[in-house]
Amino acid sequence: MSVIDDLRACFSGRLITDPVDSAPFLTDWRQSWTGTALAIAQPESTADVAAVVRWCAERDIPIVPQGGNTGLSGGAVPDTSGQSVILSLTRLNKIRSVDPVNDTMVVEAGCLLAAVQQAAEEADRLFPLSLAAEGSCTIGGNLSTNAGGTGVLRYGNARELCLGLEVVTAEGEIWNGLRALRKDNSGYDLRDLFIGAEGTLGIITAAVVKLFPRPAGKATAFVAVGSVDAALALFGTIVRRAGAALTAFELIAEPCLDAVLGHRPDLRRPVEAQAPWFLLIEISDLHDMAAARSTLETGLMAGFETGLVIDAALAETLEHAQRFWAIREAIGEAQGTLGKVLKHDISVPISAMPGFIRDTGSLLADRYPILHPTIFGHLGDGNLHYNFVVKASSMDAFEALRQSVSTIVHDRVAAHDGSIAAEHGIGILIREEAARLRSPVETRLMEALKAALDPKAIMNPGKLVLSGGAASGPRHPE
Ligand SMILES: Cc1cc2nc3c(=O)[nH]c(=O)nc-3n(C[C@H](O)[C@H](O)[C@H](O)COP(=O)(O)OP(=O)(O)OC[C@H]3O[C@@H](n4cnc5c(N)ncnc54)[C@H](O)[C@@H]3O)c2cc1C
Repeated sequence: MSVIDDLRACFSGRLITDPVDSAPFLTDWRQSWTGTALAIAQPESTADVAAVVRWCAERDIPIVPQGGNTGLSGGAVPDTSGQSVILSLTRLNKIRSVDPVNDTMVVEAGCLLAAVQQAAEEADRLFPLSLAAEGSCTIGGNLSTNAGGTGVLRYGNARELCLGLEVVTAEGEIWNGLRALRKDNSGYDLRDLFIGAEGTLGIITAAVVKLFPRPAGKATAFVAVGSVDAALALFGTIVRRAGAALTAFELIAEPCLDAVLGHRPDLRRPVEAQAPWFLLIEISDLHDMAAARSTLETGLMAGFETGLVIDAALAETLEHAQRFWAIREAIGEAQGTLGKVLKHDISVPISAMPGFIRDTGSLLADRYPILHPTIFGHLGDGNLHYNFVVKASSMDAFEALRQSVSTIVHDRVAAHDGSIAAEHGIGILIREEAARLRSPVETRLMEALKAALDPKAIMNPGKLVLSGGAASGPRHPE
């Protein structure tokens, strides 16, 4: 019996070995890395996931868990050895139960994020995790990367939206931690170890997620401000009035708006004024639209009176608000039309944001005048996509520039007690940089956890931590 027949016989789901069918699983969403694999297993039950993991563990075969393969750090693709099994969770996609009294739902790992949102809506509840990839990414991938997105300011990131997990361990055992409890101090928090672990400790097969009341009204504004200091002062002004009703406070640098308007002729400039920075602000109200609008108007009026706001447009209709959000969501794609993009997903304390942008920006402008900043992000969460477009450069020159610029950016982030992996995870993209910046104690603790939970080092080797496996193949040019 061939090794593939043997794997085929150990579980009842789908097994893919055909090169054409395998291709979408082997390259990441950004097309930065391509690997090869022994096969792609798509089990349909937790028992079958466990069977595949046991089969791999008995043979020391590396496992690469994969959800929607929309991750931006290369964590879900195998290396080029051809020895790994990709364990694709997309067929494990049932909504197991909804408990509207407890405000919780049990969902399988392969459910699309959009399907989880939809199931919550059908129960007249909100599942607030929201990101542009929601039609393709899975809840298992969201939890494994501790995804953020646009609802973090009010509802928290994926970790904060999860009460319990079901996990297949690296040895193929099933841990049922599907506890729907808001209070549970019964020892080490195993759930939190697997969230954000990027598949390096075990496989998430199901989760208990939290539900919330659906807001009845939302008010949305597009605002021009003169500086990040002004943006931060306006954040304080509005949050003091709105409290938890402030559901988004997004920062957009002028070159990002220009890039979107150049790339998407269907979208219009929301405010006439020229300004270096723009904000997308959203207030939600549980009861009505008028209350949301009134809170936002009062906050913006205070901003005008104190000179913080240069110009502002308040969405009059839902479609109007969607057009504001379309601008925000198109930035990622639009910046790529300007040249090669050097990307960082960083966070610093919100109070440090203006200083970080000012100091790091002038340091880089002095040393690398070739860089054009296209900065945007979730200002209210202290998270920036601190990106730069390079208009003309050979691939080799770009790669050398990427490394030296990223080292400077990451060192500045560390100097502000920030994180170089705010919401996209570490994967293979920044695992060396993350290792460089970790303290020896943190490295030792992480390596001890990895060795304890994955003693054979078969879980997604080469990702997130330096120990436990080889790196993936070389990066493709962007
Ligand atoms: C257009 C676009 C916009 C995006 N916007 C955001 C954003 O705003 N905020 C944000 O945080 N991210 C964003 N992302 C990144 C991405 O969507 C998220 O990281 C998402 O959570 C990944 O889910 P996935 O199912 O695609 O996981 P994958 O890409 O398949 O996997 C990601 C990692 O998790 C592991 N993994 C996947 N499933 C499991 C499982 N069941 N058990 C164990 N490990 C697993 C993989 O091995 C890999 O390391 C965006 C991506 C795109 C393409």
